[in-house]
Amino acid sequence: MLDEKINLLGLDRAALEKLFTKIGEQKYRAAQFMKGLYHQYESDFDNYTTFSKILRTRMQEFSTLEVPTIVSKKTSKDGTIKWLLQMREGNAIETVYIPEKKRGTLCISSQIGCSLNCSFCATGAQGFNRHLTTAEIIGQVWVAAHELGQSNKNRRITNVVLMGMGEPLANYKRVLPALKIMLDDFGFGLASRRVTVSTSGMVPLIYQLKEDIDVSLAVSLHAPYDLLRNTLVPLNKKYNIDTLLKACMDYVKDKRKAKITFEYTLIKDINDKPEHARALIKLLAKVPCKINLIPFNPFSGNSYERSLPESIELFQNICEKSRIVTTVRKTRGDDIDAACGQLAGEFLDRTRRSNTIKMKVS
Ligand code: SAH
Ligand code: SF4
Repeated sequence: MLDEKINLLGLDRAALEKLFTKIGEQKYRAAQFMKGLYHQYESDFDNYTTFSKILRTRMQEFSTLEVPTIVSKKTSKDGTIKWLLQMREGNAIETVYIPEKKRGTLCISSQIGCSLNCSFCATGAQGFNRHLTTAEIIGQVWVAAHELGQSNKNRRITNVVLMGMGEPLANYKRVLPALKIMLDDFGFGLASRRVTVSTSGMVPLIYQLKEDIDVSLAVSLHAPYDLLRNTLVPLNKKYNIDTLLKACMDYVKDKRKAKITFEYTLIKDINDKPEHARALIKLLAKVPCKINLIPFNPFSGNSYERSLPESIELFQNICEKSRIVTTVRKTRGDDIDAACGQLAGEFLDRTRRSNTIKMKVS
């Protein structure tokens, strides 16, 4: 008997099949169970009546079915919704839904805090608390999809981006099964290109991701030169731009129409000059990609400022003169602190040993 019961929410199809086989059941039980959980949003195991009472009782001896609970929900003027979800050990994390004309994007977190300490990021400034479990990662999608009611066409999750708190590739072994559930037809059935992992550049794991699953990749670049990137994304000292771009080229190789999205946060007077834009397009000339410019979102305790609107426009114009499609990310949900880099949650900060609940605000 296991000490801690397994949460069935965190198991992908292969793991569920293994579990059912182990207790002498047929593999198809896994798909049956997933349909109940991800298509019917049934969170009470007693209601899985396709399973006999004996089987349900047996499963409850070693497993549970726990979905995250909602602490609060805020809706922005622009329709963006932010949920604060309760996690174990007194932590809470935020998940954001951004409705657009033809799609609905859910931005989810992969860790509580982050150890990579990028100088412009509020999550990095909090330090690292802990990895989210697979159940907590996929649980964010479950709660949002359940809340939105998948049947209502206007409020559907069509895209999931791992761009909330944390570095998804630093929590690879828990993120991977969650990605598998997102793509699985018995899970959320999302198309590969509509699930995006955003990384600050954990190079070996970019190669690994390509081996393991077909999802879209976004890379947080933020600078065209190593010296500058070292100060913004300290991980660059380990995996420099050249090494990172090689991994990106490899990632899209043999994938028809695949493009890397390069995220570039525009910070006033730091990385937003025309020379940076020119160096950037030169650097990316051979990589199948698009560029997503993110105006920096300020937060307390950080001295960087957002680039001026004219600098952002000029930067975009220079990039667009190349063949690279360049978009500026619209600030959505800033009235409810749901914009990029404003995601906070509440957590017990272990790395800074303050042991107090910290709330991050922009
Ligand atoms: N760790 C991953 C994913 C989470 S961060 C990564 O770094 O890619 C998601 C995106 O938000 C990244 O592109 C990051 O650079 C950006 N971001 C972080 N803080 C920000 C801020 N204060 N203003 C604007 N964008 C920010
Ligand atoms: Fe971590 Fe990404 Fe923030 Fe860097 S930008 S500190 S990798 S969450």
